[in-house]
Amino acid sequence: MLERAGGGLPSFADGTDNKSGGAMFTRRHWLSASAVLAAAPQALPAGGKPIVISSANGLRACARAMEMIRSGADTLDAVVAGVNIVEEDPEDDSVGYGGLPNEEGVVELDSCVMHGPTRRAGSVASIRGVKTPSKVAKLVMEQTDHIMLVGEGAGRFAKAYGFKEENLLTEKSRLAWLVWKRSLRDASGHNNWIGGPGALKPAARLKQMFPEASDELLAYAWERAVNPPTGTINCLALNAKGEMSGVTTTSGLAWKIPGRVGDSPIIGAGLYVDQDVGAAGSTGRGEENIRIAGGHTIVENMRHGMSPREACLDAVKRVARNYDNDRARLAKFDISFYALGRDGQYGSAALWSGTAKNGQVRPRQFAVNDGGKSRLENCAYLYERKG
Ligand code: ASP
Repeated sequence: MLERAGGGLPSFADGTDNKSGGAMFTRRHWLSASAVLAAAPQALPAGGKPIVISSANGLRACARAMEMIRSGADTLDAVVAGVNIVEEDPEDDSVGYGGLPNEEGVVELDSCVMHGPTRRAGSVASIRGVKTPSKVAKLVMEQTDHIMLVGEGAGRFAKAYGFKEENLLTEKSRLAWLVWKRSLRDASGHNNWIGGPGALKPAARLKQMFPEASDELLAYAWERAVNPPTGTINCLALNAKGEMSGVTTTSGLAWKIPGRVGDSPIIGAGLYVDQDVGAAGSTGRGEENIRIAGGHTIVENMRHGMSPREACLDAVKRVARNYDNDRARLAKFDISFYALGRDGQYGSAALWSGTAKNGQVRPRQFAVNDGGKSRLENCAYLYERKG
């Protein structure tokens, strides 16, 4: 069953068994798609009302962006200021300061921005020592004729613009990294640490290894070590004039190989904005998004007549199609897409209905602010996650 998502959209019932996959078309579909292409409008009418949407961790980001838009700020300034709250928050371990590090214990961040009115973009990847990579991505857009800077070059660019080099690894993230490191072992079960690998799990042994840490912190660190999380914020905005911008920012996959870059800084994957039509972004397993160029795919879907939610569901189906719709393999990850149309419609879809913990399923959600308080709405989804 698909759940309905917001935006006052008509109910969507395309059946979810997706046997043919989102990317496969019959000749008849192709012909009708061509007809739609030929008839595609150049630009949708603007909705006339500001809207900001984001991944579920962006309630405060949406509120700040909306406040700024209502006081006349540019849409990109607004979304960047919104996600800065999350980048600077040490408690969000998937974005900016406090993000979980790579396998060497170093936090590497990725971000990109797109500005609808000027049709420009900027991006940084694998940048170290800067809490707010979204600001650096925006500077790349504003100050250079490049689009993407990576690694050391991105860091040096940030320094040249006055960013201080800071340690982004919080004590909490460092402990989670150490617990992960000490849980690794060879095929015979051996590792280099006193206490032995198999002994790690019981709370008492963890406590022995890290006596200073609270039980709560150790439980968090163990959970992060055994279930390396992903996480990101994507934020999209529309103002009353029909101007649109977007930003995506992340610390990427926990324990990644140094230099690994996901979808978040990739224009056309983690983010795409064409304010004639709309904007889209993603969170979750970045590699799967890159393979379908999700952000761009969704905007093109909307250009050819799909609602934001249908466009996101199509992207999710393309991801599933890359696994022959094999749920057992797809169960190992999740991915969510978010879309906002120039006309003010919005939607989101995830591969799975939610996350399972202790037999309970928490629904996948996204954040919306259309002028009042930010709220969470349920994402549409392809597959139902069982508890
Ligand atoms: N998409 C991000 C990446 O792959 C991570 C995430 O959103 O969870 O780097």
